[in-house]
Amino acid sequence: MSVKTIWDIDHACGHSSRTDLSSRAADQRAGYARWLAKRECPDCWRKEHQRDAQDTASWLVAKRAAEVAAADEWQERFRMPPLDGPERAVPWASTVRHQLMTAAYSALVSEGDLDEADWQELEDQARTVTRAGWWIDQREADAADLPELLAAASDNDRTNENPY
Ligand SMILES: [Zn+2]
Repeated sequence: MSVKTIWDIDHACGHSSRTDLSSRAADQRAGYARWLAKRECPDCWRKEHQRDAQDTASWLVAKRAAEVAAADEWQERFRMPPLDGPERAVPWASTVRHQLMTAAYSALVSEGDLDEADWQELEDQARTVTRAGWWIDQREADAADLPELLAAASDNDRTNENPY
């Protein structure tokens, strides 16, 4: 009599499955079958993992939507111009602009020594930069560097406007 290759396994989830263990050595099948029995059946395992992936995906979608809504509200309140760029890039760029400007206000005004008048000037400068790609490029910038970055952006604009 040879060691069976098809095993009926009662899984931890309460389901049972008929599993072909012929790819395992004969003396390892019983141990492997016991190991499988402590786990959920293949169907339950797949369902659980798909749900994990879906939960993560929908959580990310919800998080992005909330960030975009916050950026829109901020844009409205501070009279920031809408950004120009590809349809997919604009919400992302608006979010980056909102987060960077908010972080810069904390770093430079709340915790730094920039006064409100200087900040207004910086905001005006930020209003002139409407290219979505520029803001996306600054997504990892240090908020305290924003004045320098905006100054560079305005210089470039001038260069572009007047190439001669
Ligand atoms: Zn199951």
